[in-house]
Amino acid sequence: MTAVTDETLSFDEAMAKYDPVLGFEVHVELNTRTKMFSAAPNAFGDEPNTNVSPVDLGLPGVLPVVNRAAVEYSIKIGLALGCKIAPSCTFARKNYFYPDTPKNFQTSQYEDPIAYDGAIDIELEDGTVFTVEIERAHMEEDAGKLTHMGGATGRIQGADFSLVDYNRAGVPLVEIVTKPIVGAGSRAPELARAYVATIREIVKNLGVSDARMERGNVRCDANVSLMPKGSATFGTRSETKNVNSLRAVERAVRYEIQRHAAVLESGQKVTQETRHWHEDTRSTTAGRPKSDADDYRYFPEPDLVPVVTSEEWIEELRAQLPEPPAERRRRLKEAWGYSDAEFRDVVNAGVMDSIEETIAAGASAAAARKWWMGEVSRRAKEAEVDPAELGITAATIVELDSLIRAGKINDKLARKVLEHVLAGEGTPAEVVQQHGMAVVSDDAALLEAIDAALAAQPDVAEKIRGGKVQAAGAIVGGVMKATRGQADAGRVRELIFERLGVAG
Ligand code: ADP
Ligand code: MG
Repeated sequence: MTAVTDETLSFDEAMAKYDPVLGFEVHVELNTRTKMFSAAPNAFGDEPNTNVSPVDLGLPGVLPVVNRAAVEYSIKIGLALGCKIAPSCTFARKNYFYPDTPKNFQTSQYEDPIAYDGAIDIELEDGTVFTVEIERAHMEEDAGKLTHMGGATGRIQGADFSLVDYNRAGVPLVEIVTKPIVGAGSRAPELARAYVATIREIVKNLGVSDARMERGNVRCDANVSLMPKGSATFGTRSETKNVNSLRAVERAVRYEIQRHAAVLESGQKVTQETRHWHEDTRSTTAGRPKSDADDYRYFPEPDLVPVVTSEEWIEELRAQLPEPPAERRRRLKEAWGYSDAEFRDVVNAGVMDSIEETIAAGASAAAARKWWMGEVSRRAKEAEVDPAELGITAATIVELDSLIRAGKINDKLARKVLEHVLAGEGTPAEVVQQHGMAVVSDDAALLEAIDAALAAQPDVAEKIRGGKVQAAGAIVGGVMKATRGQADAGRVRELIFERLGVAG
């Protein structure tokens, strides 16, 4: 069954008439060893239904126990988002039936989330910064995973039957909810992507989540509504569920803005509902209607005592927080002396860590950037992997660089050396040794090659003598060829001019 495509307005037209309001609910799966309320392993990719305890299934007579590590991770997330941490908070049951939730309720937090009232700065690619306010970050548990079989699309529509895997049931989650975000204007899709990217980066940096979106470790529900320009009254929102790539978040927000605009332009009302994002058609389709007062019959979880967070505990955890990613970037950019554009390219190429290691191992900031952004990136592109995954270590770059600085090899040779290193032939110094690749720096040997080249191209020699110094390039080329690229080109130039008695 293919969905009927909704009408959309062009993005520019939508932006001319409306201001978007955004809101994100991001679910982060914590990488604790065990589940939120049971001792079953929290592991991805195991045989279905092997990491399941009676607690995860809600069998009669079981009692949940709060995972201390999950609470600590949640506090760390709260602190990293600039939130206040509740001195005491409780769990609540959110009641609903779905086959992936065998207990018939999700244990979550309702009135008193563990963390609330935070704010984070989101930096867009061009350096513009938006501050996004955080409403709350609360603890809850994940549901199991349904796999719909038999249909063409893998969705429940058209499937013959569904399989359920409860390995994920009870995996600790932190749900991070923003306050409504106004003022992003036409940058709303970009901000959506950057927001989720920032959350992913923060939780990864904290070490509390594997943060792999393709595995569903970080999933985003994107709320979108429009206000006519000039109005400050929020429109009706749609909530696009479980968007699980950065690109999809950006596209889904953009699409929903265009769809809402078309609905409003035709004089109709936007329906408050969930939406599903489809990568194939790059559009959303309606899910279920959703009112703000959906009645989940929340009530306090009677099997769990409140979680009390002492001041000392919070401070102990605060002291363990790593340097925030944005701060680290500012510090490194400053220390390395790169321009805004140079640093942005480094970050986008994913080689910031590699460069940091290379500099720590002894290379200059300029040399580290030259190699990682140049030859290594080029080869990585060829191999279709990230530069950091090519297998080139900081030590390799440092060794190459010091061979060049010592005049043992030139840039051209160094690139060849790298090729041999990649082929597994050893360290740069070993490769140079094995292949006899050192630069010919013995003037006598160079002069011999220069004389041969001059004799072979007497017309060029004449031009140089007559003052056309650019013509020397042809002789340098001849010498390089004769020495298989192993001559120091600069020295060869000097010697040519010396030989011919002209000033270079
Ligand atoms: P629910 O679970 O019912 O979706 P939440 O409060 O958990 O409710 O999340 C709603 C999200 O949508 C929040 O991020 C909130 O800031 C945002 N939001 C609320 N009203 C609007 C609106 N009119 N337009 C866009 N986003 C909104
Ligand atoms: Mg929600």
